[in-house]
Amino acid sequence: MAVERTLSIIKPDATAKPGATGEILARFEQAGLKILAMKRIQLSETLAQGFYAVHKERPFYGELVKFMTSGPVVVSVLEGENAILAHRDLLGPTNSSEAPAGTIRGDFGTDIERNATHGSDAPETAKVEISYFFNASEILAPVEALT
Ligand code: GDP
Repeated sequence: MAVERTLSIIKPDATAKPGATGEILARFEQAGLKILAMKRIQLSETLAQGFYAVHKERPFYGELVKFMTSGPVVVSVLEGENAILAHRDLLGPTNSSEAPAGTIRGDFGTDIERNATHGSDAPETAKVEISYFFNASEILAPVEALT
């Protein structure tokens, strides 16, 4: 197993739910994923379109961009052993209406679009997605506890 970095986005449906942002971040940390960088931002239409450019020919692209710009998102860089898969396991399947209870998408999302969270799906996309939101100087290496 390798130490990897991945990009997480807590989507507008989840940031709108009281307590959900903190609980989702706690699940990441409890699973051993370290938060190296984080910010709560409002995506512009251009930023959301660029992030999901791979889906621009899909029928749901316009709705997806509208959803992603409907409120704040919390973007973070997570690091850990096998982080990309470990993070996506915590999220569960894309469609929240099919995601089991106990998964983040099952517990905080609603349907195939409003699914609470995004997670990078491969090392190459993780690299591109992390640099889409963060400069190298904003990503801080983990600091061991002072004990
Ligand atoms: P992910 O990697 O699990 O996020 O899934 P995809 O890359 O396939 O899709 C990106 C995002 O587009 C998903 O997280 C959903 O928010 C949204 N999405 C995917 N499929 C559909 C769909 O069929 N309809 C709608 N409205 N949104 C979708």
